[in-house]
Amino acid sequence: MANANLNRKAAEFMRGRNGADELAVCAGLLALVLAIVDVFARQVWLTVVVVLLVAYAVFRIVSPDVAARRKENEAVMERLGPARLWLRNPPAALKESREYKHARCPRCNQVVRVPRGKGLVRVTCPRCGEKFELRS
Ligand SMILES: [Zn+2]
Repeated sequence: MANANLNRKAAEFMRGRNGADELAVCAGLLALVLAIVDVFARQVWLTVVVVLLVAYAVFRIVSPDVAARRKENEAVMERLGPARLWLRNPPAALKESREYKHARCPRCNQVVRVPRGKGLVRVTCPRCGEKFELRS
């Protein structure tokens, strides 16, 4: 009963807030890893970095400015390119890397994927229409 009440209060608090996006999760995971390292290293600067990372993650999660946080998250995720899937869904990323080869279009740099094991394939870039050959 008290637990359900707490859950309802937590849900009410989080309404209209950003929540745990990829950047918040990354900051949190990095803080966790560095905190474990810090247990052995015992460096003040490392403790400060851990606290700042946790603060950044909490700031992102509870931020009411969802549009701005989403824009920041998208900007970083855009730069990550194919690594993005590894952050979002590691099992799916593993499957993807086993089944498809990823390459960049020589003209516009768009990432294209082709099924692996099909030999030499002719690729038409979905963005600019450039045709190029690729060994899958
Ligand atoms: Zn292209």
